Amino acid sequence: ACRNLGGHGVHIYSEQAIGSEREHLFLEAALHRALERNELSLHFQPQMDVQANSIIGAETLLRWNQSERGMISPECFIPIAEESGLILPIGIWTLRQVCKRLRVWDLQGMRLERIAVNISAKQFREPRFAGMVQSILQEFNVDPDRLELEVTESLLLEDLDIVVGIMTELRKLGVHISLDDFGVGYANLCYISCLPVDSIKIDKSFIRNIASDPASMAIAEGILAIAKRLGLRVIAEGVETQEQLDILTHSGCHLVQGYYFHKPMPDHVFSKVLGHACMTRCHIPLRAN
Ligand code: C2E
Ligand code: MG
Ligand code: MG
Ligand code: MG
Repeated sequence: ACRNLGGHGVHIYSEQAIGSEREHLFLEAALHRALERNELSLHFQPQMDVQANSIIGAETLLRWNQSERGMISPECFIPIAEESGLILPIGIWTLRQVCKRLRVWDLQGMRLERIAVNISAKQFREPRFAGMVQSILQEFNVDPDRLELEVTESLLLEDLDIVVGIMTELRKLGVHISLDDFGVGYANLCYISCLPVDSIKIDKSFIRNIASDPASMAIAEGILAIAKRLGLRVIAEGVETQEQLDILTHSGCHLVQGYYFHKPMPDHVFSKVLGHACMTRCHIPLRAN
């Protein structure tokens, strides 16, 4: 689905437009040139610990400002990047940019503890993925503990052993792994006990309905209870209202991400938020004004 990006990025794309074969081909060809034309950029969305009142990290979200089409949602272009294989060079570019940014913020005295990057199944399964991650971390002298890779359950459709092997290799390096969009999709609960992951992110579809739908509430509480027993960190994504936040904190979920606090922000805006957070000893205004 291609939806509005909201906030920084006016989104012109309709589902019908992308649905046509011609448009698909146009986008694929344009995506081939996107990197060299500097059309891709990264936005950052803070992840908050509401109990400690601090930013614990940020998620990196890719943006494409196509010269003829304007801002295109990753929900439109990531699938095209995956099918065409372009996700591999784009993924490398993203990881390098992220490490570079982290070091620049470090040098500016703005310490961001951890940065999360979304990784497609296709990237993750690429031979030498872990080696590539390691060499990028070394290139920019970034502590692996500061990188979190977000993967989705689509990764687990086949070859579970291979996936576990890659995860184990990454965690030996010190890199963190989180299961994104948890609760929707293909996986069953057994996966969170057999996969070497550090965190799970409760999918925003549950958070959206948490105040109105008892089933969503039950699922969120169930995920929290199991994660606690397994020693996994839980982040709730898509928190938009005070009511949702209250329910989550009441259920023991203190790590959250969502529009209620901040939308994903371009580099220079995020830098200001981070700078302010560090100035006030990482106690930040919990909400954007
Ligand atoms: P995701 O990883 O689950 O990212 C969370 C999505 O929720 C983001 O959408 C974010 O902007 C949005 N979001 C954050 N807070 C809220 C909220 O309070 N309410 C609502 N309704 N939405 C919120 P975005 O940026 O459009 O990205 C969509 C998806 O595209 C991501 O889902 C991820 O699967 C994929 N993606 C984005 N960047 C990358 C990337 O660099 N690499 C790969 N492989 N995939 C990416
Ligand atoms: Mg994610
Ligand atoms: Mg997600
Ligand atoms: Mg997603």
